[in-house]
Amino acid sequence: MSVLLSVNKLVKSFGNRRAVDGVSFKVLTGQTVGLLGPNGAGKSTTVSMLCGLLRPDEGEIFLGAQAVTTGASAVKRRIGVVPQDLALYEDLSARENLHLFGSLYGLKGKILAGRIEHVLTQVNLLDRAGDKPATFSGGMKRRLNIAAALMHEPELLILDEPTVGVDPQSRNAIFDILEALQAQGRALIYTSHYMEEVERLADHIVIIDHGKVLADESPAALYRRLSAQAALRVELAEPANGALMRALAGQHGVTALEASGPTLEIRLREPGDAMPVMGWLEQAGCRPLHFATARTSLEDVFLNLTGRTLRD
Ligand code: ADP
Repeated sequence: MSVLLSVNKLVKSFGNRRAVDGVSFKVLTGQTVGLLGPNGAGKSTTVSMLCGLLRPDEGEIFLGAQAVTTGASAVKRRIGVVPQDLALYEDLSARENLHLFGSLYGLKGKILAGRIEHVLTQVNLLDRAGDKPATFSGGMKRRLNIAAALMHEPELLILDEPTVGVDPQSRNAIFDILEALQAQGRALIYTSHYMEEVERLADHIVIIDHGKVLADESPAALYRRLSAQAALRVELAEPANGALMRALAGQHGVTALEASGPTLEIRLREPGDAMPVMGWLEQAGCRPLHFATARTSLEDVFLNLTGRTLRD
């Protein structure tokens, strides 16, 4: 795979606030990069610079060999953007909206008509093409916005938090559309503050906080950063005493341990450590009433990197 987009040391300030503070990353052809960070991390500001809407104070962006600068229409044509704020004309039908977006990109006649039908099919809105977005659910509007961004067949599609304000069923419909685009080899940038969304879609994850890149890795590499890969919660008949807690902390695979009343929260190096630990607890005379295991998530990676949860 070759490098499609190259982002190099971007800086953007608003007044004396550095919204983006030296962000660098790359997108390879056909790759999906997840830009992940809490609200206010600098994702939208980065995206605005990527699509030429905002001029960086410092740094450069290249799409292939072309520099992305404000107003450069040749390079803008190669990028499609699904903005966070919906950009649709409420009193035009879905088809008329797409006609307008296609015309803005210079499409005409049969080619324009063909593209409209094609993208309506891609986002599964063909049967509602004559209706106005005012009558659409949040998820359908979002799908129409994706269709609009695909009209000019961009090499790179950038989606800024596309599931905000969308119900779970529509969210899945959006994922299906994006997975189909991935299968066709389209490169995507997907911003979100939901780890599970980025984990599902992205080949590569760039974690941003306070305008800086904290990690730029594959999901598997991010998992390897965690000292604990699994969590075990055990509810005992009685609270564990200090001696038992110390002995448990020394058991194979246990990386961290916390007690809250009779409930133990045990962090384990890997999921396979859970059963031996349960066996040890029984042998030590504890009576587990209930237990549950869970794989740690990339949410924990963020917590590890920043000391905060994503939703703080
Ligand atoms: P995210 O998309 O990750 O939620 P943003 O890029 O929207 O983050 O914002 C990053 C920071 O820049 C925030 O502190 C935000 O308040 C600030 N910011 C964004 N746009 C503007 C603007 N036009 N004027 C002033 N401050 C802004």
